[in-house]
Amino acid sequence: MSTEGTYDLAVVGAGIVGLAVARELLTRRPGLRLAVIDKEPAVGAHQTGHNSGVIHAGIYYQPGSLKARLCVEGAAALFDYCEQREIALDRCGKVIVALHERELGRLEELERRGRANGVPGLRRVDAAGLRELEPHAAGVAALHSPNTAIVDFPAVARALADDVRAAGGELLLGTEIVSAERRAGGAGLLLRGADGRETVARRAVFCAGLWADRVARAAGADADPRIVPFRGQYLTLAPAARSLVRGLIYPVPDPALPFLGVHLTKHVSGEVWAGPSALLVGARDAYAIGRVRPDDLRETLAWPGTWKVMARYWRSGLDELRLAASRRAFAAACAEYVPALQASDLLPGQAGVRAQAVSRDGRLVDDFVFSQSPDALHVRNAPSPAATSALAIAGLVADRAQEALGLDR
Ligand SMILES: Cc1cc2nc3c(=O)[nH]c(=O)nc-3n(C[C@H](O)[C@H](O)[C@H](O)COP(=O)(O)OP(=O)(O)OC[C@H]3O[C@@H](n4cnc5c(N)ncnc54)[C@H](O)[C@@H]3O)c2cc1C
Repeated sequence: MSTEGTYDLAVVGAGIVGLAVARELLTRRPGLRLAVIDKEPAVGAHQTGHNSGVIHAGIYYQPGSLKARLCVEGAAALFDYCEQREIALDRCGKVIVALHERELGRLEELERRGRANGVPGLRRVDAAGLRELEPHAAGVAALHSPNTAIVDFPAVARALADDVRAAGGELLLGTEIVSAERRAGGAGLLLRGADGRETVARRAVFCAGLWADRVARAAGADADPRIVPFRGQYLTLAPAARSLVRGLIYPVPDPALPFLGVHLTKHVSGEVWAGPSALLVGARDAYAIGRVRPDDLRETLAWPGTWKVMARYWRSGLDELRLAASRRAFAAACAEYVPALQASDLLPGQAGVRAQAVSRDGRLVDDFVFSQSPDALHVRNAPSPAATSALAIAGLVADRAQEALGLDR
């Protein structure tokens, strides 16, 4: 018998990953008493609502990694889902541009990876071919991915939330989970809210994005890896400058870094964004650059891995500071790819904060990471392209929830 606040499964986090997991499990197990719990009053309030809006094709990722597989599968599933739910998307395509001959080796490696990952339609183009695709872009060569697309991820999250409700799931919004204790006698978990409300669930799946490590620890899981917040600032192109960009223009990324570099991204709204930068910040919700939360800062600085990352990447850190401090520097970075762009074409835009998992020994954890604690599964690292991959991640988490958590019993 279900009493109020008692569920078979609680999914903590109503970002795109948590919602996709909830929908998948309700599809597989109709009648499951399921609640999705989020601390914010609306779904998709953090990374899901503050990203570049790109459905990645799966080019960048190490063949054989979870990212490689789940991105390719997730993108295909998302195309179908958006068609089914009539969510606007635009297969505008993307070019990854080599500015100099010295980048050609890395461009080749990306092409090799993309092919190994099964990315459809990849094609190398020379400078003239690049200009046919993006008449205002400069570069010696590019990799063209015609199947990279753009979508409104918050709209996807809202559609998934509607599906969850329609399948009988509940959304408990405005409820921050601060602890998750196992109840005596194997009677599941007691999830305590910051407001004192309690929810009982036989099992839980935690998909808390920027707070993934904190809720994992609250449920008795390992502290490693820690989430370190990296703020990404965007600028938007003034309407008159939008025609300088047709689709998506990306640099050849630095293979040592987990971020893709400042890119120019068309949006489904018609806007064109430049960014995001990647600056280590003092709050997990540092949408305003000056926001510092003492607990967040303390956790970042007390983590041994943070210092190792800073020691290793201080040079890129300084570059990012320069981008954060100067619109002129930001414009100059963009103008390398689209020389006609000027600082006056760039207007203030929104910001997002990336949940970057950092291991105790100072690795920027690249692949998706899932772990388990008694009665619970944890999505510990779901950075980009997790929005693209959400429907495939949901399949994998649902498999594990059915096996490891015994949801079928
Ligand atoms: C700047 C930026 C650009 C990106 N660009 C892209 C892109 O173009 N394409 C792409 O595929 N991916 C992109 N990503 C990555 C993508 O946005 C994320 O990988 C994805 O949104 C992760 O989804 P999530 O559901 O795991 O996390 P989130 O969307 O962050 O959701 C986590 C949820 O958990 C909730 N929560 C946390 N703690 C608690 C608690 N204690 N109690 C209750 N609720 C809690 C939060 O409120 C939040 O709603 C980008 C990310 C950023 C930041």
